[in-house]
Amino acid sequence: MTCQDLGGPCDLAHRGEDANEIINAQDQHLKALEKAGDKAHQPARDDMKKRWRHPMKSMGWYNDVKKRFAELPET
Ligand SMILES: [Zn+2]
Repeated sequence: MTCQDLGGPCDLAHRGEDANEIINAQDQHLKALEKAGDKAHQPARDDMKKRWRHPMKSMGWYNDVKKRFAELPET
C-alpha cells in the first residue's frame, strides 16, 4: 500500500505481512518527514497522531485499511 492509500500525499509504497506493519511503516514515514520539515506530509501526520490519541474513533479507518490490504493481490 502507498502513502497515498493511507491518507498521505506521496506514492511511496509500503510492504508488510499485515495491515499493522503497513500502518507502522506509514507512521515511521510520516514521523521522519515531519522531522525533515516536510509540509506536504504534515496534515497526514496530524491525522495519524489523532488516531493514536483516539484509537476507538479510529477503528473505522483502521478496519478500512485492513480490508483494503486484504483485497490486495499477493506480491
Ligand atoms: Zn509519503
